Amino acid sequence: MGSRPEILFPLFASCLSLKGVGQKTFLNLQRMKISRPRDIMLSLPVSGIIRRISKSVFDTPLPAIMTIEIQIIAHISSKTRGRPHYILVRGLDSDFNLVFFHSREDYLKTIFPEGEMRIVSGKVEVFDGLPQMTHPDYVVKLPDKKDIPEFEAVYPLTYGVTQKVFSKLVKEVLTITPELDEWIDPSQKLQAGWPDWKTSILTVHNPIGVDDFSRSNAARDRLSYDEFFAHQLTLALARMVAKKKSGMSTCGGERERSALIKSLAYKLTNAQSRVISEILKDMAEPKKMIRLLRGDVGSGKTIVAFFSLITAVSSRGQAVLMAPTEILARQHYEVFLGLAKAVGVKVDILTGRDSGRGRKTKLEALASGSIQILVGTHAVFQQDVVFLNLRLVVVDEQHRFGVNQRLELSSKGLSVDVLVMTATPIPRSLALANFGDMEISILDEKPIGRKPIKTVMISTSRVKEIVEKLDQAIKDGRQIYWVCPLVEESELSDKIAVVQRFENLGTELGRDLVGVIHGQMSTNDKDVAMQKFVRGETKILVATTVIEVGVDVPNATIMVIERAELFGLSQLHQLRGRVGRGSAESTCVLMYKGPLSKTAKERLSILRETEDGFKISEMDLKMRGSGDLIGTAQSGLPEFWIGDLESQGDLLDVAHSDARTLISLDPHLKSKRGLAARNLLWFMDKNKAIDLIKVG
Ligand code: ADP
Ligand code: MG
Repeated sequence: MGSRPEILFPLFASCLSLKGVGQKTFLNLQRMKISRPRDIMLSLPVSGIIRRISKSVFDTPLPAIMTIEIQIIAHISSKTRGRPHYILVRGLDSDFNLVFFHSREDYLKTIFPEGEMRIVSGKVEVFDGLPQMTHPDYVVKLPDKKDIPEFEAVYPLTYGVTQKVFSKLVKEVLTITPELDEWIDPSQKLQAGWPDWKTSILTVHNPIGVDDFSRSNAARDRLSYDEFFAHQLTLALARMVAKKKSGMSTCGGERERSALIKSLAYKLTNAQSRVISEILKDMAEPKKMIRLLRGDVGSGKTIVAFFSLITAVSSRGQAVLMAPTEILARQHYEVFLGLAKAVGVKVDILTGRDSGRGRKTKLEALASGSIQILVGTHAVFQQDVVFLNLRLVVVDEQHRFGVNQRLELSSKGLSVDVLVMTATPIPRSLALANFGDMEISILDEKPIGRKPIKTVMISTSRVKEIVEKLDQAIKDGRQIYWVCPLVEESELSDKIAVVQRFENLGTELGRDLVGVIHGQMSTNDKDVAMQKFVRGETKILVATTVIEVGVDVPNATIMVIERAELFGLSQLHQLRGRVGRGSAESTCVLMYKGPLSKTAKERLSILRETEDGFKISEMDLKMRGSGDLIGTAQSGLPEFWIGDLESQGDLLDVAHSDARTLISLDPHLKSKRGLAARNLLWFMDKNKAIDLIKVG
């Protein structure tokens, strides 16, 4: 489909091409993630300032931004260095001062000649009982009154880019904004009462009142929709391309599955049975499966994965499970080894640690098909890893594996079935945003016999008490996780917090009983530490959030989280999910450093009230915004310029179904509307989507 349409060129030039952008402003804009005129266009004002002319400084309660016609009475020079320069001025009914700090007096005198009239606009406040305006934002002669906008947009700016500079850039960008053909379904547009795209852009940057900042404003609403629509089109295209690949029909495996069921020490939950049959049905279809398995921590996803894996294997195929960390890969491997005995399949593991001869042997075994189920980290997708007959890929703990990675997988041309598992019980709007291209299975039931986890909040000042309790707990044969936060953005200080706590607990409770695990350790050391804990040799495991996902040690029944107030709620929920996995009573201690703000306290209390990950994530989303829900960095969640997942979930829903409809009617985006939608994709930087149209 070639390259970006010419009509969009001006919007994708460098910001340096704009008047008034020099190297310095350019760099500052870049730090705000603005590098092209298009980015300026998508940065919407967040509020506005009324600059209508007032009759008197006493019109409104002060301080306030005011615009007033004045006569300059006198300059009051200060004799002392460093003192401000005052100009006494007369409004219609009162006198007040203009105040300037560090300004050159002769310069001020040329702008404010005594006796003349001017209009000034700026913040008026009361100082020593007198109103004064410090450094007016605008100073104009009476005939130039129009130079002061009656209502001025305020942009969210940082890095020293001023409102004045930015509004000028916006004005310039608006003059190069093209008309684009409509990509929205006409009836949708009519029903929502949306303006055209260009009108919307012009409207949002020229607000005339505070109503223009509300999300229900038609122009803003439309632009949010456009953004969601582009994103959902991308997912719909990915889905189409993936579905089109003639997938394999994988049936059979009944004998293996019933052998497995017999060997299990427990009965599957209804939810597990239901989800397993959903997956099997999907695998049996000749189309490619792209399915998300959502289930709260502890809902038993691993065994569901294993049922799927052995089904793929029974059709003389191979299957692979990819985990986000080495620890998890190893844990799955060990669980699978046990399960595989009953079924009679050959399981092996491949991670970044495999090298040389050992790795070579494994690769050969994979290529010849003698390894049937492979467990591993990202290493399982390295270039030279070749399978004889790969039929199923299971990805554990999805949130480290975002939309972009999925797009990559499909562009690699793998036509195998894909099952992605996640414990992040995200709300529907986020699910659509992140997994709009997948079918979803939900494990909404936990294995029976689990006792609720007792969750308590305790101030760090009582750490001694906690340690004493742990001492007793160890004597009672229990095991404990102790999680330390990433105190600062540096991994080094992260390590320090953990290591200090490790040493401190070692002194208090006994060196041999305490283990430690953090990101800076070698994989081997991590493994050793984990294994010792699994075997019960160490009783306490001091850790960073590396244990956040998936680790399963049923005997561990106490989770202490230090500085809990620094974590996201969903993250705390994940961490807490590491305990309460056996039938024994479990406790989660949220240690906080007081004093806590009211909101922080409320936030943590949510965890005390519920163990429902879904509820928790919705509250978290409400309180923190979508970006922080699972930690922006590794979340893989899309970031939107205008759209807001939290308050505009409905709009996302509409965009989701519109995108699927458009793609089903016009899979190659060749109709008039389809071509318009391509413009939108280009405009929204969805280059990956554009590549998919080529593939499809
Ligand atoms: P998650 O969904 O968090 O990955 P796991 O698959 O690790 O959960 O399962 C948590 C624990 O529950 C494991 O120890 C597993 O053996 C156990 N388990 C799984 N399914 C059942 C079940 N139906 N009944 C009892 N225990 C189960
Ligand atoms: Mg798991």
